[in-house]
Amino acid sequence: MFEITSVVKKSINKVKIFRSLKFRFFIIIMLIGIIPSAITRQCILLNYEDRAVSVRTSDVMNQCRILANHLVSAGYMVNTSIDTINGELEQLSNLYDGRVLIIDGNFKIIKDTYAISETKTVISEEVIKAFNGESSTNYDDVNQYIEMTIPIVATDTDQVAGVMLTSVSTDSIVDSIEILRRKALILEITMALFIFAIALSVSSLLVQPFARVTKAINGVREGFEQQDISIPDYTETESIMDAFNQLLSRMKILDNSRQEFVANVSHELKTPLASMKVLADSLITQEEVPAELYREFMVDIAEEIDRENEIITDLLSLVKMDKTSGKLNIETVNINELLELILKRLRPIAKKNNIEIVFESVRPVIAEVDQVKLALAFSNLVENAVKYNRKNGWVRVMLDADHQFFTLEVSDSGIGIPEQEQEHVFERFYRVDKSHSKEIGGTGLGLAITRNAILMHRGAVKVTSVEGEGTTFTVKIPLTYIA
Ligand code: ADP
Repeated sequence: MFEITSVVKKSINKVKIFRSLKFRFFIIIMLIGIIPSAITRQCILLNYEDRAVSVRTSDVMNQCRILANHLVSAGYMVNTSIDTINGELEQLSNLYDGRVLIIDGNFKIIKDTYAISETKTVISEEVIKAFNGESSTNYDDVNQYIEMTIPIVATDTDQVAGVMLTSVSTDSIVDSIEILRRKALILEITMALFIFAIALSVSSLLVQPFARVTKAINGVREGFEQQDISIPDYTETESIMDAFNQLLSRMKILDNSRQEFVANVSHELKTPLASMKVLADSLITQEEVPAELYREFMVDIAEEIDRENEIITDLLSLVKMDKTSGKLNIETVNINELLELILKRLRPIAKKNNIEIVFESVRPVIAEVDQVKLALAFSNLVENAVKYNRKNGWVRVMLDADHQFFTLEVSDSGIGIPEQEQEHVFERFYRVDKSHSKEIGGTGLGLAITRNAILMHRGAVKVTSVEGEGTTFTVKIPLTYIA
């Protein structure tokens, strides 16, 4: 088992190396360094071979032409026993490690410096061409020789009297190429080692900023305390770090708001408990407490328990409505009926302060919504409109729709919300006037719940208000649910 996992780990590491940027840089630098030098070496060698062969060919050709003139002028074509000419022919074949054949007008070999083919007949394309006055050369790189045919032209008649067929070895050229090739290879290996070292250090250097990015991110993993990180080496690392810093600050905000929420919840839950404790303590410490006082204090304690209960219920609704975690139970709902039902429940409460609730519906609205969650959201708005109203005031609920959205407007003739407070009213536990709110009641969670429920439906809510005159909350929700 251990062996298997270690083998798997090793192969994973191998694959990782191939996928690394460092490895890719390394390979690219190596290829850029080595391929051109290999191509250059091959080109130089091929060029050298071509050049050496053509120099050798023209050298031999010149020698042969001179010799051909000697042959004619000395009458060698009719008498091959002229020593000086034979000597020159031997010298030529020795000098170039080759063989010279002299062929007469009947295609018969009259002289072979190897002395093996004399009197034989040679009829080849090149020989026939030479009899037509055309010289030709041919390089056989496999067998390593150059063959050339030259016409021997009689000076007086300008007639081709014979053909000189010369073949010279190119062994010496091949040897020099081999030496050159070996030297080039040594040079190339040295260069490859040099490039290897450069590739290794340059590729490490190039990916260093990325290692720094990883290190910086790892450093932050422990906590969000660290300030903004900057790795300005490349624009790429800079943008990675910019994105990361943005994410970090967003996480910091989330973390802060989580901490603040926990602190608020603890505070809110502790307040009724503290009141109960004071009431209970004062009963305990007093001797012979009259029964009326007991009753009075117990009523107060029961109120505090109710309040505690209200806070916990609202908190639970809020948690359920959290737009990231909540699930909606979408159904087709008649919004008019839903509102009628909410208003019917709230009218008796409004009546206590002689507040009139009016419902105006421009058209009947049917929408795909979560009935329970939306009912809670709308109730909160109308409840607030009643709660933060004046005696003999009014609340107007207006419902309208277009082909895409339905709009609900809850207006009141109440105390209003100061302009600077308006953007905060949807925050959890936020209350405009804490002391005033206490006697009215409320947890500061109602509008947070409302907003979450509306956002879950991909809707929007906004507030407009004039202090002392009244407030209007406008809600806009899509008629069909967008998942
Ligand atoms: P609460 O439980 O205190 O009503 P909400 O979240 O429902 O909490 O409202 C937050 C604060 O916004 C309230 O405390 C109140 O100060 C203000 N507010 C909400 N609705 C209205 C309104 N219709 N008119 C005036 N003030 C309002």
